[in-house]
Amino acid sequence: MSAEIDYYEMLEVERTADDATLKSAYRKLAMKFHPDRNPGCTESEARFKQINEAYDCLKDPQKRAAYDRYGHAAFQQGGAGGGGFGGGEGFSDIGDIFETIFGNAFGGGGGRQQARRGADLRYDMEISLDEAFHGKTAAIEIEVSSPCDPCGGSGATPGTGTRRCNLCGGHGKVRAQQGFFMVERTCPTCHGRGEVIESPCRSCGGEGRVDKPQTVEVQIPPGVDTGTRIRLAGKGEAGPFGSPPGDLYIFIHTRRHKVFERDGTTLLTRVPISFTTAALGGEIEIPGLDGARLAISIPAGIQSGKQLRQRGAGMPVLQGRGRGDLIIEILVETPTRLTARQKELLRELQATETGEECPQSRGFFDRIKDAWSDLTE
Ligand SMILES: [Zn+2]
Ligand SMILES: [Zn+2]
Repeated sequence: MSAEIDYYEMLEVERTADDATLKSAYRKLAMKFHPDRNPGCTESEARFKQINEAYDCLKDPQKRAAYDRYGHAAFQQGGAGGGGFGGGEGFSDIGDIFETIFGNAFGGGGGRQQARRGADLRYDMEISLDEAFHGKTAAIEIEVSSPCDPCGGSGATPGTGTRRCNLCGGHGKVRAQQGFFMVERTCPTCHGRGEVIESPCRSCGGEGRVDKPQTVEVQIPPGVDTGTRIRLAGKGEAGPFGSPPGDLYIFIHTRRHKVFERDGTTLLTRVPISFTTAALGGEIEIPGLDGARLAISIPAGIQSGKQLRQRGAGMPVLQGRGRGDLIIEILVETPTRLTARQKELLRELQATETGEECPQSRGFFDRIKDAWSDLTE
């Protein structure tokens, strides 16, 4: 997780710096950025961590040699347990993902074992907006590698055991000459376990795991959105040779709704009203996503396109309290099929618009006429 800034640059020393120079550079910077000297400053804290990380590596001749040769790659363990879902896709997390990320990054030392756990799995789930509103419990079927039954995940034929690995003598690591340096590697024979299986289990071929269909129950909390991912710890692939399983990630996608559009916790809907209601005002009733009927009061003289906000009638806040707002966009409908009586009434209304009875309307029409004549002159 550490940013890939060059360790020498972090400590502000030359690549050829000797141990004494390294040490004094480290001391100077550590004093400067120490959290006690910069209380509450997260930038200093981050620098302090980087300086320590850099010095931890460079003070050890073997690590420094590996770093000089391979850079940061020298200290990255295959996949580092977290799996391939780290950021980049705009997905936000629910659950204890932070433990995995930071647990590995700052755990130090013991990281090698964790890297051997099973792979994380991704499952894409499409749900309706109603389901996102109410939340739901879903059972999903997945084919996932699980501990092998006959050997209990050990990979050895029942009744047989393991013996110490000859190649590494049980250390799990072998050392090899790389140019001038000795480099330590995971043992290729026992894959770091230090022991090998005498007689591999027939069901799993000695790996300790087999693919099995599984039903997993997932709790979808109210308020999820496209981009939400739910982590089910330990529901991923079984690790090899009985090591811990990976995690299962449910990636949520919500379908479009016929009536409601969604933007975070805000819902938007378009509601047609008659032009008489628009002119005179009134009250209309619309169904909300939760099934309740909402009474909306329309102010007199409302224009088409005007948006009314209904507080607390939107989507629930994910893992929080309350709800967002519902925005109602008004569409004033012009009548198309009129009865003779309605036409008569409208003509009467039309006559008032240009007549003397309505000075306000008259003023309006006069202004429009003036504007038109200015344009055409
Ligand atoms: Zn087996
Ligand atoms: Zn070995």
